[in-house]
Amino acid sequence: MSRAIEAHIHLPALHANLLTVRRLAPRSRILAVIKAHGYGHGLLRVARALANTGTGADAYGVASIEEALALREGGVRAPIVLLGGFFEAAELSQIAGAGLVPVIHHPWQLAALEAARLPHPLEVVLKVDSGMHRLGFPAPQARTAYERLRGCRNVAAIQLMTHLACADERQGEATPRQLACFDRATAGLPGPRSIANSAAILQWPTSHRDWVRPGIILYGVSPFADSSGPEEGLQPVMTLKSRLISLRRCRRGDAVGYGWTWRCPEDMPVGVVAAGYGDGYPRSAASGTPVLVGGRRVPLVGRVSMDMLCVDLRGAPQAQVGDEVVLWGPGLPVEEVARNAGTIAYELLCRVSGRVRFVEHGDPAAPGGQG
Ligand SMILES: *Cc1c(COP(=O)(O)O)cnc(C)c1O
Repeated sequence: MSRAIEAHIHLPALHANLLTVRRLAPRSRILAVIKAHGYGHGLLRVARALANTGTGADAYGVASIEEALALREGGVRAPIVLLGGFFEAAELSQIAGAGLVPVIHHPWQLAALEAARLPHPLEVVLKVDSGMHRLGFPAPQARTAYERLRGCRNVAAIQLMTHLACADERQGEATPRQLACFDRATAGLPGPRSIANSAAILQWPTSHRDWVRPGIILYGVSPFADSSGPEEGLQPVMTLKSRLISLRRCRRGDAVGYGWTWRCPEDMPVGVVAAGYGDGYPRSAASGTPVLVGGRRVPLVGRVSMDMLCVDLRGAPQAQVGDEVVLWGPGLPVEEVARNAGTIAYELLCRVSGRVRFVEHGDPAAPGGQG
């Protein structure tokens, strides 16, 4: 048998989460954010699952032209927004050729667009910085940038967007301030608006506008620090699973793994799972991080190694070599693993590595999630 680690992708759950977004933001069109290989789930796999019915995504958002061209080659015809725009002017002819929609966030991009010779004008998105201070035209310059785009022969249509820094905070002034800043900066300018990421879709309805931009919630994962996807009414899409490859009885005082960072408090069974940081399981996951062995929660012990991790099997005395192990999935939210590893679920999903075998489940359009 080959190494057992697998990422199981439940396509009906993707579709169910998309419908949840529709219900939460009924007046908005949906730009499904599938950058970073569909948050680690597979770019084309996710795009196709979200496109499959009349209720599918209205557009896709990616981070690079390579991702966008892979989608076009895979037969995706819906609009594709390049969320970071283009990185050099030479990309503009490819953008025109593939019918992509670049975000324009910086004066150099504006100048490049004005100077370009394109076969036809583009639809573009003007990004306004309403307070995150990452990408975008500062609010006082938004109007001038808009007028330049309107006067540019290479521009056919303009959308307006901004991005929220603190939408995952349950209260606070940050999001209302950013919304007010964006509305002031763009007042009276024609064109559809786009603001909300996943957290804002869930809890800032005044941010919904013409388009919403869900990412993490499509994958069934909560954007909040204090909840999990199922608690937000979402269906987790990925299950990362493997198997027990060794089981031994250790003696009281025996140390486990690199650095001898954990010692058996008594005579006890210790299992070894074929999953490690070479698969994307976080090395920073502390002793005590839960793992499901044969459906039972047991704690990880010692340091995660490249290909393996160890578990305390006192809570699963019937466990045997070959038993199924869930690293995250039903009964063990990836958010919980992330908290134990000092990171966020976004990062864990994105970094599932190339040596993990992906297995798809279910017809994406079928009703009811965990197929
Ligand atoms: C990644 C991204 C999103 C999606 O964010 P989530 O928190 O995953 O919903 C939305 N908008 C932009 C501009 C992004 O870069």
